[in-house]
Amino acid sequence: MTTEILAEAASTAGLLPTISHWIGGGPVEVLPEQTGPVYNPATGEVIARVPRGGSAEVDAAVSAARAAFPAWRDMPLIARGQIFFAYRELVWQHREELAALITRDHGKTLPDALAEVMRGLETVEYACGLPVHLAGLNTPNVATNVDAFTLRQPLGVAAGITPFNFPVMVPMWIYPIAMACGNTFVWKPSSHTPGATQLQAELWKEAGLPDGVFNVVYGGREAVTAILEHPGVDAVSFVGSTAVGRYVHETASRNGKRVGAYTGAKNAMIVLPDADMEQAADAAVAAGYGSAGERCMAQTLVIGVGDASDRLLPLILERIEGLKVGPGSDPGVDMGPLYSAEHRATVTEWIDRGVAEGAELLVDGRAYRNPEHPDGFYLGVSLFDRVTPGMAIYQEEIFGPVLGLVRTASYDEALALINGHKYGNGTAIFTTDGGAARKFQMEVDVPMIGINVPIPVPAGYLSFGGTRQSAFADLQLRGEDGIRFFTQQKEVTVRWPDPTRRAALSLVFPGN
Ligand code: NAD
Repeated sequence: MTTEILAEAASTAGLLPTISHWIGGGPVEVLPEQTGPVYNPATGEVIARVPRGGSAEVDAAVSAARAAFPAWRDMPLIARGQIFFAYRELVWQHREELAALITRDHGKTLPDALAEVMRGLETVEYACGLPVHLAGLNTPNVATNVDAFTLRQPLGVAAGITPFNFPVMVPMWIYPIAMACGNTFVWKPSSHTPGATQLQAELWKEAGLPDGVFNVVYGGREAVTAILEHPGVDAVSFVGSTAVGRYVHETASRNGKRVGAYTGAKNAMIVLPDADMEQAADAAVAAGYGSAGERCMAQTLVIGVGDASDRLLPLILERIEGLKVGPGSDPGVDMGPLYSAEHRATVTEWIDRGVAEGAELLVDGRAYRNPEHPDGFYLGVSLFDRVTPGMAIYQEEIFGPVLGLVRTASYDEALALINGHKYGNGTAIFTTDGGAARKFQMEVDVPMIGINVPIPVPAGYLSFGGTRQSAFADLQLRGEDGIRFFTQQKEVTVRWPDPTRRAALSLVFPGN
């Protein structure tokens, strides 16, 4: 693997490994002054350098992708599919290595990182069925001697801009579908988690993907803007924060591109008084603190109806007591560090703010430092009670291990809170009453719904996406919507007249 060779060469020379852009089928040279640090959040150490690309690198990647497009578009579907099957196999073989790289760069625990890889793999597997997904409708005899059929063709060059928190799963929700549809691809990943990114590029090469079909450019605002404005980019799929997603959607739309941006969240789960409280407490703790709360599908608000909060609270506290915080690679650790020192400071400020707003801080994680890794970016878990809708900690995404309990008198009030929130990504209800659950699925205005399931990420062959400020997009990610997003649909109407019967000339609008 190139990553290993680079790391070995660098350590022999006493240098940090430098990750590279991946353009035209391989790494490209990067000058040291054009790189920034990559941290291991568990120790706080700088472990690698990552390039800061800009418009020149984006231009090179788009050129490589454009050059590779005609042959990739025209490759027979079975041959294209075989590359996907090979890639699927390689990801499976390297799943633990990918997970270890995620844990090293992001901080989440190894089992959580492995679960991420497996959820990403689901969409790679879906893409392996590309001949079926690209099949169109064919309707014979729509008029006299006339047949109609649908063609689904690739757009050209597609770009993906992805966040730090799922360095494998979220990109795998985008590039397999874009490329299976016959597009070539430029990926602008997060610079915080480059290890698994590099390995994905290498695995594509090993799978036999033609050079230039899959390209990676690291960078920040400049690289992103270069993608959004580049005339050679046809479609942009973004996953990340709401502020950046709004910018991406507006800029890409203004530049005539097809764009979908899937953004921030503040998810809430309702617990009805009839719920299995042990199950609901497990769910609240797992969904609130898993991956240190750095998931767009985290449930960070628990809305207890009636006496549910009073019964749930001691069970949640009991579970928090048993949580082990530490390096994600250590066995038995439940929660790793936050991904960066800056983000830890931001989450700490959110907890300060919640206290100032009058929420009751029952568990305070602000002071936690890991004794063995004092420079790691750790924070303990925090729990607020009596969070109310007027508070900023209710309204805004914190993206850290901070859970808030909200108390309501009625189910209707709880439902109205979820439907009135500015975000709408995932939600859940905990109940043993089928009728109450059914009311929820019919009336809640959030697209991804869990019934006694706290993190309702749909299976990899289905679509994924939010509403309101959780998505700026007409279609969802992945699944059938993903195929639609990455293809141009054409409707072909064909007449092959019966040679024995010629129709008379008519200026009437065509019909039967
Ligand atoms: P982010 O918005 O900071 O970064 C996302 C991407 O945009 C990265 O590639 C980053 O390099 C780039 N970027 C960052 N700042 C930019 C700027 N000013 N201009 C242009 N590009 C910029 O998000 P993040 O911190 O990496 O990820 C966390 C966020 O992503 C959270 O808000 C989370 O809810 C969201 N998220 C959403 C989903 C979803 O499916 N809705 C999934 C995962 C994460």
